[in-house]
Amino acid sequence: MDFRKRPASTTGPTKDEAPPLAKGVGVQAPGGAMLGGAPEEVGVTKKLEEILKGGVARGATEVHLDPGPEKSRVRYRIQGKMVELPENIDPKLHAKMISRSKVIGLMDISKRGTNQKGYGKLDHDNRSYEMVIIIVPTPIGEKALFRIAWTQTLGTSVDKLGMFTKILTGFKALLARPNGLILMAGPPGSGRTTTCYSALQLLNTPDKTVCSFEPEIRYQIEGVLQGKPEERYAYGYLEGVRATLDLEPDVLYLGDLNGDEVARLAVSAAFGKRIVLGRLNAKNGATALLQLLDMGLPGFLVTSGVIGVLSQRLVRRLCESCRQAYPPTAAVLAELQINPQPELMFYSARGCPECDSTGFKGKLGIFELLVLSDRVQEKVLARASAAEIQDAAIESGMMTLRVDGVSKVSRGLTTLEEVLAST
Ligand SMILES: [Zn+2]
Repeated sequence: MDFRKRPASTTGPTKDEAPPLAKGVGVQAPGGAMLGGAPEEVGVTKKLEEILKGGVARGATEVHLDPGPEKSRVRYRIQGKMVELPENIDPKLHAKMISRSKVIGLMDISKRGTNQKGYGKLDHDNRSYEMVIIIVPTPIGEKALFRIAWTQTLGTSVDKLGMFTKILTGFKALLARPNGLILMAGPPGSGRTTTCYSALQLLNTPDKTVCSFEPEIRYQIEGVLQGKPEERYAYGYLEGVRATLDLEPDVLYLGDLNGDEVARLAVSAAFGKRIVLGRLNAKNGATALLQLLDMGLPGFLVTSGVIGVLSQRLVRRLCESCRQAYPPTAAVLAELQINPQPELMFYSARGCPECDSTGFKGKLGIFELLVLSDRVQEKVLARASAAEIQDAAIESGMMTLRVDGVSKVSRGLTTLEEVLAST
């Protein structure tokens, strides 16, 4: 099954000549080792391909081949949840698919009982997906995990992110500045990447060099030079950030600022004539700024380099067909510090055929834009607490995540529970 020993009729470059991600059709090892000789091998190849493509068709981010004593399981991870296929795969076929997985990932197929990692590519529906393939031994056989990288074309613009006009205008004004660092704060999975890419798209004009460097490329934008670390070439994140900076881009997006070295590079880069966007795992604007100080960056660098922090969360969007309006109680309004208004309605989820009985349909962003006003700068320079920085920002006109969220509740876009759980 080792493709290096494949029949002479199967043409294609050998392992050493081929680029790791050679173009081609179907699931393949770089050498184009798709067709084995024996019909049985073709069957295994086809079966595995069918499983992988089936996963991609359903939007899976992972495909698992789990060994079992009687039969092995095939599972997809779809939208974060594991889904088992009703497949009946006997251990013999499983073992063959594991071997085949090793071939695709350019791994050593003679090695068993040890973990291995490889890289492959899957072509489906005129698109190409990069895969990381992980083999892990267990007492009842080997497990294969295919992690599928989803790069997609960006289907949204800054105007369609769901920002209220005030935040949208403020955000666009920051992007229009000649230089400065804009932080994108929020937990992982809060939609920051989509926002960053929408911003890049807005700034992506032919007269500018727009570059990005991030751990994983989720979107592809024409005209943006996108980079990512390549583990197999020992090309690290920090190294890549430095290389990208050498290009002196006019607009730079860094997918991960969580680390003092890269944060320092990002702030320094913002002093050049360029806009830098950087993703940071932080609760909100105030904590993001404090995080930079905690990384050892001097206050004056932070206050003169950072021009704003956009914080974001994703909440579930209510299904418009079945949402139910209700007047919020006085106690709830008091808790939210909202003055009672007779017309004010909140909405709850019910469930109908339109939304698969969940009451929700899709996601919605809630936002908070902290602009480094003089007051905020003073507080940061004085190393004030997060609460004090937050208060200074509110005094300067900032609308908090909670306020933005509650406004969306009153418009029937989401529920109060969704907002409270995420802010
Ligand atoms: Zn519904």
